[in-house]
Amino acid sequence: MTEERESVYERLKDRLATISDLSSANGLLFWDRQTYMPEGGVAGRAEQMATLSRLAHEMFTDAEMNRLLGSSEELDPSSEKGALLRRVRRDHERATRLPAKLVAEIARTTTLAESAWVKAREESDWSLFAPHLQKIVRLQRETTEHLGYDGHPYDALLDGYEPGARTVQLETMFEELKEGIVPIVRAIAGRAYEEDRTALLHGTFVEAEQEKFGKVVINAFGYDWERGRQDRAVHPFCINFGPGDVRITTRFDKGWLAPALFGTMHEAGHALYEQGINPDYARTPLGGGTSMGLHESQSRLWENLVGRSKLFWSYYYTMLQKAFPGALSEVDLEAFYRAINVLEASSIRVEADEVTYNLHILLRFELEVALIEDELSVVDLPAAWNAKMKEYLDITPENNTEGVLQDVHWSNGLFGYFPTYAIGNVLSVQFFDEALKQRREIPIEMKEGKFSTLHIWLRENIYRHGSRYYPDELIERVTGRPLDTAPYLRYLKNKFSELYDLD
Ligand code: ZN
Repeated sequence: MTEERESVYERLKDRLATISDLSSANGLLFWDRQTYMPEGGVAGRAEQMATLSRLAHEMFTDAEMNRLLGSSEELDPSSEKGALLRRVRRDHERATRLPAKLVAEIARTTTLAESAWVKAREESDWSLFAPHLQKIVRLQRETTEHLGYDGHPYDALLDGYEPGARTVQLETMFEELKEGIVPIVRAIAGRAYEEDRTALLHGTFVEAEQEKFGKVVINAFGYDWERGRQDRAVHPFCINFGPGDVRITTRFDKGWLAPALFGTMHEAGHALYEQGINPDYARTPLGGGTSMGLHESQSRLWENLVGRSKLFWSYYYTMLQKAFPGALSEVDLEAFYRAINVLEASSIRVEADEVTYNLHILLRFELEVALIEDELSVVDLPAAWNAKMKEYLDITPENNTEGVLQDVHWSNGLFGYFPTYAIGNVLSVQFFDEALKQRREIPIEMKEGKFSTLHIWLRENIYRHGSRYYPDELIERVTGRPLDTAPYLRYLKNKFSELYDLD
């Protein structure tokens, strides 16, 4: 780098740091809104957050930014500087391709659409939401045209959450998932109703004890409390204000053990990723997880492959029993293990088990693609939804509240987001298998309630890189091959064949 180029790069980094500070401040406003803000703050907070977003967006797309990017050198993306420039150019291109008028129209439309969705959902009345969704779909299509795409228009939307992912690859992934999962679901369907295995997770579970137990567990995972904290929120999330402050939130239910127990592990999984990123990447676009799918692979890994495993509970179950003697002292480990791993088709995505969850995502993916292709109209969406529910899960939702109106995502214009949940599931096992292959002591440690070898392996191979690599590069780098559904399907088949005595 010449002297001059060097200073262009430094000035660019300075600007990125300021932009990152603005979004961290905005994140803190969001965190506060979800945790401690009094109800009366809603309107004022919306203005404050809109102002900070606007300032960050303006600074990222203004003439000075164009100039700096235009005069910075082309660098090999395998270097850290090159990777940063590549990421910034990509984000910048996405941000500048959308006309300000369209961005504003999307913001206005989705704000109105969300409140219409809340009402429609309450009253199970599709007609209240349909006109809003029609407009959102139209704006999404317009967005794809501005962003551009080589293959399918949906690629342009997908790319916002999963850089580099293509619709055609996802069609293959979902086809393989469907082929592997539907037979498992069918084989178990008859037996799921024999007995209610999950009853023991409902009862009286003192909130303070739930919190204490969750803390012990994520402490053992390696969550760093010096650089984090846990608060309560209705919709749990993990948020990063830089390497020194990665927080999680949890929802506790005194009558039901599962949400806080697995929710805490899940959010801690996201947090371990963020806490493990190379601190040199702070205040740059490399200082966060590389994609939504990669992020979800980490939350799912800790929640499911660790937190729903027999190895984990062979160590922690006695401790859980001591925390809730009234509810669990008569329940043995095997019954508890079966309860937390029940496979039962349900119409509600967020209540779905590890296996059927993917079919809920498949359904949404197919409907989104059809809407963007204009192969399906919003008017026909409820019927299409119910037909797919019947086909994949053999369920007919009671009403639209339990069907097509259950998720907030579409009202927020988040087209392209759903598939990342399934990508995360698939990758969680691909990564975990690789870790087990390279570090044979992991299961032995898990049985003793220890996770440091697993945590260090994930940090070295995945976390520390932040957004330096794109998802497909990172997957290849870590496992030696592209995203692969085979390990995941093998895992599901083995686990649930054993749980349900299938041949
Ligand atoms: Zn998550």
